[in-house]
Amino acid sequence: MIELNQITKSYTRGEETLQILKGISLSIVEGDFVAIIGPSGSGKSTLMNTIGLLDSPTSGTYMLDGVATENMSDNGLAELRNRKIGFIFQQFNLLPRLTAIENVELPMIYAGIPAKQRRERAQLMLEKLGMGQRGHHKPSELSGGQQQRVAISRALAISPSLILADEPTGALDSKTGIEVLELIQQLNEQGNTIVLITHDNHIADNARRVVTLRDGEIIKDVRNQPLPAQVSKQEALV
Ligand code: ADP
Ligand code: MG
Repeated sequence: MIELNQITKSYTRGEETLQILKGISLSIVEGDFVAIIGPSGSGKSTLMNTIGLLDSPTSGTYMLDGVATENMSDNGLAELRNRKIGFIFQQFNLLPRLTAIENVELPMIYAGIPAKQRRERAQLMLEKLGMGQRGHHKPSELSGGQQQRVAISRALAISPSLILADEPTGALDSKTGIEVLELIQQLNEQGNTIVLITHDNHIADNARRVVTLRDGEIIKDVRNQPLPAQVSKQEALV
């Protein structure tokens, strides 16, 4: 599903060039649950933004689901991103003026899904995350854990081939964090491919595979659990 080959990312700050990713090669297959761990500043979010097509690398190649992304236009990248990738962020990134259900509908608006279908699907996703009764609430009326459930519903709305989560439990208390992590684990058991970024080694223990970054390089890559037996995609997404 993901084929990164010799990815580098540099920033120029004044006179000096900072190399944040120093030649990352990484393959991730469908159905896996991969944690990317490493200390703060090691390049985890930069790597996730590259995988999520939010940021383009300085050099190297990236194939997503067999599509070469290096020479695509910004519009082409946005289209691919909106069609294939669901994002979960530490700060939830819900739009405060919209209700929960409107937030879940957003990616479906980008995907051009008609209003009635959008609303039904959004309600279904909220129910799947135990938030079926909360659709009319604004984010500020929900707890952190509830907001993250809405954000996960939103990530699932377009049936993404890939779910990217950057420190999804970082802003939650430990009990709520464990619940959110269990939800993410369930999504993987139902067939969703997950890449989870965390600086917390305990959280990473729940993943099937753990990749460790340090100073922009992969220094360790360990498989804890085998890949799941093939799950029907249709079953997985409802
Ligand atoms: P992590 O998520 O592992 O904490 P990041 O990928 O966010 O690490 O950042 C890695 C390094 O890249 C940090 O030193 C950060 O300051 C630097 N960095 C990230 N984004 C930018 C940017 N837009 N411009 C300059 N430096 C950046
Ligand atoms: Mg980060």
